Amino acid sequence: ESLSALQELRHKLAPDGNVVSDAGRRKTIEVFGEPLTPTQVVERICDDVRDRGVEAALEYGEKLDGARLAADELRVPAEELAAAHAAAEPEFLETVRRLRANILRFQSAILHTDVSVDLPGGGSLRQRYLPLERVGLCVPGGAAAYPSTVLMTAVPAQAAGVKELAVVAPPTKFGSYNTDLLATCHELGIDEVYRVGGAQAVAAMAYGLDPSPPQGEGILRKVDKIVGPGNLFVALAKRHVYGTVDIDSIAGPSEVIVIADQSTPARYAAADLIAQAEHAPGSAVLVTWHEPLIEAVAEELEKQLAELSRGELAKQSLEAFGALITVGDRAQAARLCDELATEHLHLACEQPQQLLDQIRCAGAVFMGPHSPVPVGDYAAGPSHVLPTGATARFASGLSSNDFLRSNSVIEFTAKDLKANAEDIVRIAEKESLTAHAAAVSVRLE
Ligand code: NAD
Repeated sequence: ESLSALQELRHKLAPDGNVVSDAGRRKTIEVFGEPLTPTQVVERICDDVRDRGVEAALEYGEKLDGARLAADELRVPAEELAAAHAAAEPEFLETVRRLRANILRFQSAILHTDVSVDLPGGGSLRQRYLPLERVGLCVPGGAAAYPSTVLMTAVPAQAAGVKELAVVAPPTKFGSYNTDLLATCHELGIDEVYRVGGAQAVAAMAYGLDPSPPQGEGILRKVDKIVGPGNLFVALAKRHVYGTVDIDSIAGPSEVIVIADQSTPARYAAADLIAQAEHAPGSAVLVTWHEPLIEAVAEELEKQLAELSRGELAKQSLEAFGALITVGDRAQAARLCDELATEHLHLACEQPQQLLDQIRCAGAVFMGPHSPVPVGDYAAGPSHVLPTGATARFASGLSSNDFLRSNSVIEFTAKDLKANAEDIVRIAEKESLTAHAAAVSVRLE
């Protein structure tokens, strides 16, 4: 029963579920004059920004975020970035530097390297990897400020060697007016920060804001790939522009499964569930084969929720998208994990490695009682941009490798070609592509 309810939740939570709050629906009517679905809203915004450029982007910023900006105020001035950095708490900047070093270390270590292979029948093959030229990073700024998202998207891109990074964040106090965010950008050497958010920011980066800029100029030049999290409108806009540019993924709200046993303190498990639910909405599921833990965690949830500043929000999220599930044994827990393919999987039980060996699908796995999800959110090296909504069945978290393209390089000598000619000609003739066959035979004459 719980499983089918969770599957239903998973669909509701996915961007396809088009879940918007009542306030969101009211805003849509206010801005567009009619009740549109989020998909229709996003199509309208993206097409408008593509057709009318900066004017449309600024208009949506005014209507949706209440910020009236002129075209020359869209990009955050270099002096403002430097001033935010100069005024930032030294401890904060030291933290940013330490986190950057962790992320860079991991992301550099996992980077693909060029590969060369010689075929036994003749021929030299190579796969070479090159960084993307220009990448756009979405940093949310509706409900909270996220300097961590700058780190978790920009540093993997820098590890890959991407030269040009453009950050977009809504023109709000949690977005591109947040001084911690600006200081983090400056610390990372990012000098292109734009005060635009939501679907209009995604469209701006996909199409460019100035349709025919002279070489090297333009208000916001188009990028090759757009990455980073955001709300439903950002997620749907990324899907809309995919193909014009590349994207990382279409992320829905955050999720966690905590696997616990008799060794897991109930207060740890409760804290981990609430931490995810605090995203509001966020889905948080406890799975255990130790039945008494359910009651103990439920009590701890009540207690901790009452003491937290975002407790009421987290409670609503838990009521809508949370569950405490008992399973028969560890093997059943593992099967459930694969079924739900969650974004964050915390194996907060004994012998986590033994359990992990039975699990295939998860965005990021957190091992043992001392690796709670915020370690990965903030301090470890893998990016916190992870697949949600069961997409971990086929998708992986953002990494430095997502900022590389590869070329295959094929080099045959006359001898290699001769050695392979018979096979090539035979297949070409089977396909009746005689010119293909001739392009080989002509070299053998
Ligand atoms: P956001 O910046 O993604 O969205 C705000 C923008 O949405 C606004 O600028 C506005 O343009 C647009 N918008 C709002 N209501 C609209 C409407 N009715 N019609 C059209 N556009 C509208 O910020 P957010 O809302 O705070 O959402 C951020 C999301 O990203 C949260 O769900 C958060 O949990 C998630 N997040 C995920 C990660 C991660 O890596 N997984 C990290 C940080 C944040």
